[in-house]
Amino acid sequence: MATGWLWEERYAWHDAGTWNDFASTPLKAYVQPEEAFENPETKRRFRNLLDVSGVLDKLVQLRARPASDEEILRVHTPAHLASVRALGATGGDAGDGTAMGRWGDEIAVLAAGGSIVAVDAVLDGAVDNAYALVRPPGHHAEPETSMGFCVFSNIGIAIRHAQHVRGVGRVAVVDWDVHHGNGTETIFLSDPNVLSISLHQDEHYPPGRGRVDVVGEGAGRGTNLNIPLPPGSGIAAYGLAFQQVVVPALRAFRPELIIVASGFDASAYDPLGRMDLNANDFRSLTASLMEVAADVCEGRLMMSHEGGYSSFYVPYCGLAVVEQLSGHRSDTDFSGVAPDSHRSGPRALEAHERAAVERAAANVELVPGPA
Ligand SMILES: [Zn+2]
Repeated sequence: MATGWLWEERYAWHDAGTWNDFASTPLKAYVQPEEAFENPETKRRFRNLLDVSGVLDKLVQLRARPASDEEILRVHTPAHLASVRALGATGGDAGDGTAMGRWGDEIAVLAAGGSIVAVDAVLDGAVDNAYALVRPPGHHAEPETSMGFCVFSNIGIAIRHAQHVRGVGRVAVVDWDVHHGNGTETIFLSDPNVLSISLHQDEHYPPGRGRVDVVGEGAGRGTNLNIPLPPGSGIAAYGLAFQQVVVPALRAFRPELIIVASGFDASAYDPLGRMDLNANDFRSLTASLMEVAADVCEGRLMMSHEGGYSSFYVPYCGLAVVEQLSGHRSDTDFSGVAPDSHRSGPRALEAHERAAVERAAANVELVPGPA
């Protein structure tokens, strides 16, 4: 199994500002400045753990390139691209409170380009699958604005590239970031050729997005699946959601490529999420997707990094996923870093978690099969 790996040191140079940028005035004056939750450390430590575990040596190194204006404009408005480019000279608010430092525009187009490169490597057969550790993340970016730490929709731009340049017909997105993948949903809401599935903490971020009754519009009806899960959900709920919603929907839709919006903020240690997954849970979710990909699209699977804010634990989640993608297990002892509450095994599924999954499962019958 050849797995592509994409990381650029410049991704760590994106300056997402300090946390008190986000506090409203007059409170702002009373918040001691602290680095933003979305900072380079989680990503660097993820990359460094791959290095010291020896897994990095087993991966095919991919190099990012900047996305072109033409590639970005397949998803974003000319006004949004122009405002991000103009902001590069000074740094500031790239939209909806998303901070960006000087020359951050160059890093944002490199993130979008990184997702394109990873998709191309998978489509070319240069690798079987790939993980793009891009930054800034992308799944909250809307066509006309940055949002939620995201400047451009890295995945959206990569999918439009696959469709327009590579002739790919059907693409599926599985977004397991703890927040709703609102940007991806907006971009593909009426596109019958992109199945967008988001598992997220119910009524979290963005406010009012990610509800179970948003199923796609017009020709795209049935190609948007939201799976809002109650706070506290662990692998029992996620596993049931995969079994009853994600896997059946992917098998019905039969995409030619599966893309994962890979946030690790549904881990039990995350400061911005209230879910209960551990690193081995992300490994098992990866295994499920690899099994479906092997059956429907010759294993073509690309993961593009999104959120995840525990600098201690994100690296273990990432290592587990990349070990699974590549088939190279290191001797890293994941049990030694598991949450204490996980030592005696997964918590049993609760009734309200089952009910949430069953509400989402009712929408799977709308998913259109191949024409
Ligand atoms: Zn997130």
